[in-house]
Amino acid sequence: MKVFLNPGHCLGLDSGACGYGVTEAETAFKIACRVRDYLLAVNYDVYLFQFDGLEEIVTESNLWRSDLFVSIHCNALNGTARGTETFYCGSYDGELLAHCIQNQILAKLPTVNRGVKEYGFYVIKHTDCPAVLVETAFIDNVDDNTLLVEREDDFARAIALGITDYVKDYAS
Ligand SMILES: [Zn+2]
Repeated sequence: MKVFLNPGHCLGLDSGACGYGVTEAETAFKIACRVRDYLLAVNYDVYLFQFDGLEEIVTESNLWRSDLFVSIHCNALNGTARGTETFYCGSYDGELLAHCIQNQILAKLPTVNRGVKEYGFYVIKHTDCPAVLVETAFIDNVDDNTLLVEREDDFARAIALGITDYVKDYAS
C-alpha cells in the first residue's frame, strides 16, 4: 500500500496559519512524520512531501502512483472556531477514507466534530487516487492549539489508524 503524505504549506517558505507561536507548516510536518513512522511500522510504503507548489504536490503523487493521498493541515478563522473536519473531492473511496480518519480522530481526541465534507481543494481534486485533506484543529483557538501541541502523537496515531481502517475494510 502506497500512501502519499502531504503536510500543508512549506517549512521556511509558507508557514500557513499561525497561532500562539506555532505555525501550521511545522505542526503539520511533525504530525505527518509520526504518521509516516506508524505506517512504515506496518510495512506500508510512504512518501512524505511538503512543498509550497500545489501542482508539484499533485504531480509527485501521481507519478509515484500513490494508492492513497492524505494532506494534513491546521485550520484558522477567528480564534473562537474549533474542531476537526476532513474533506474529500468527487470520490466515493475518498469519502470512505475521510470517514475512517475523522472517526479515529473523534475517538482519540476531545475535539469538536465539524464533519466530513466535500470541497474542491486543488490537491484532492487533481490527484488520481482516493484523496483527503484533514483539517486537524484550529491553530488560532487556544483549546485546539493546546491539543495540537500536547496531543500531536494522538492526531498522528488517529490518522494512521484511519488509513489502516480504510485499507482493511474497503481496499484489501
Ligand atoms: Zn493549510
